[in-house]
Amino acid sequence: MRRRVLVLGAGFGGLELTTILSDTFGESIDVVLIDKGDAFVFGFSKLEVMFGRQAATEVRHLYRDFVKPGVRFLQTTIRSIDPASRKIVTDVGEFEADFLVVALGADLDPAATPGLVEGGNEFYTVPGACALRDVIARFERGPAIIGVTGKSFKCPPAPSETALLLHDYLVTRGRREATEITVVMPFGVPIPPSPETSQAILSAFAERGIRFVKDTLVTALDPERKVAILSDGTELPYELFLGIPVHRVPAVVVESGLAADAYGWVQVNKQTLETRFPRVYAVGDVNGVGTPKAGIFAEGAARVVAASIIAQIRGGQPPEAYKGVGMCYIEFGNHEVARVDVEFLAGPKPTGTYQKPSEALKLEKALFGSSRVQRWFGAAHEPSEPTT
Ligand SMILES: Cc1cc2nc3c(=O)[nH]c(=O)nc-3n(C[C@H](O)[C@H](O)[C@H](O)COP(=O)(O)OP(=O)(O)OC[C@H]3O[C@@H](n4cnc5c(N)ncnc54)[C@H](O)[C@@H]3O)c2cc1C
Repeated sequence: MRRRVLVLGAGFGGLELTTILSDTFGESIDVVLIDKGDAFVFGFSKLEVMFGRQAATEVRHLYRDFVKPGVRFLQTTIRSIDPASRKIVTDVGEFEADFLVVALGADLDPAATPGLVEGGNEFYTVPGACALRDVIARFERGPAIIGVTGKSFKCPPAPSETALLLHDYLVTRGRREATEITVVMPFGVPIPPSPETSQAILSAFAERGIRFVKDTLVTALDPERKVAILSDGTELPYELFLGIPVHRVPAVVVESGLAADAYGWVQVNKQTLETRFPRVYAVGDVNGVGTPKAGIFAEGAARVVAASIIAQIRGGQPPEAYKGVGMCYIEFGNHEVARVDVEFLAGPKPTGTYQKPSEALKLEKALFGSSRVQRWFGAAHEPSEPTT
């Protein structure tokens, strides 16, 4: 009998999981992969789009190209999830599964920060990054703030990378001296698990005159007075505000009972990623396993869950426990790329190691993206217009 696996969300986690299951079982499995969107976009591509280094059409990978044995992709919205019976309701019907994997990511809520929608910008969505490309092109002078508005956010290096890339952008256009750049972050240092990486970023900030405001959130913007209000009550003037919006558990996941509330990321067994419901797993940004919200961790979690499903179907040994291991390439400006490797669950506390920028890392980052596109979507990429 063909087992049915429902994979909710075709992001980093969902694509990797589905690919492994298809590679392993071919037509002898029935995987239904569901996403409301029509294309996948790497998180780091949003920086490329925002700074005009790539067009939005170039960074979209269409789900219609995700064609694999044993897999059906459905573009539809998931309306409800019943984890006890592993049943879901979508706009195109109801589905039931032997295994249910929730990989719905984190929702972004710019409206949760008063003034952000009216008076600022965000670069965490593709439309936000596209809009910023024109806003940054017009930015001539005054203070620019890259501000984090919630404690839990995707890709912790992204605000620092944005500051370094903004610096370059303004230098190239002869506007840097008329501007100031400030990063506001809820951490004491840019990358807490890796003091060496943090030090390298802080040195780069110091060399470029970028200010780092630590242990602080932006709680509101006052668009009329053009000030950002910080969690300690101080105010910072801005001419350009690049926000990292509040992240929330998708409402459909909260309503399912898998998460306690909008900020209570799905609790899982840290070793297996299984929720309290048998054969229901949560991978990637949606879970509260304790790793950063990053694609590389979603992918690692997906591999452990895939191995577990394979073992249950074939009757083998359960996989090794999830270790929360990952790495991230960091854009340092000047087209330089560094790398930090981090381990979150293997030891008593998170640790990280740093590799300074090099040509080899630049190539490695390009290969990181292109190898996944090849593995998930097959043939070469053709630019496409957004339809959603
Ligand atoms: C600016 C920026 C830079 C980044 N840089 C990096 C980086 O360099 N390295 C890295 O590893 N990570 C990076 N990230 C983070 C990375 O993009 C995310 O952590 C990763 O995509 C999470 O994978 P996921 O599978 O958990 O969720 P996602 O990739 O977010 O996928 C979730 C999917 O679920 C779908 N969905 C949600 N709700 C529904 C619903 N109700 N019905 C149907 N479908 C639904 C969504 O459409 C989405 O496609 C970056 C992020 C940003 C914003």
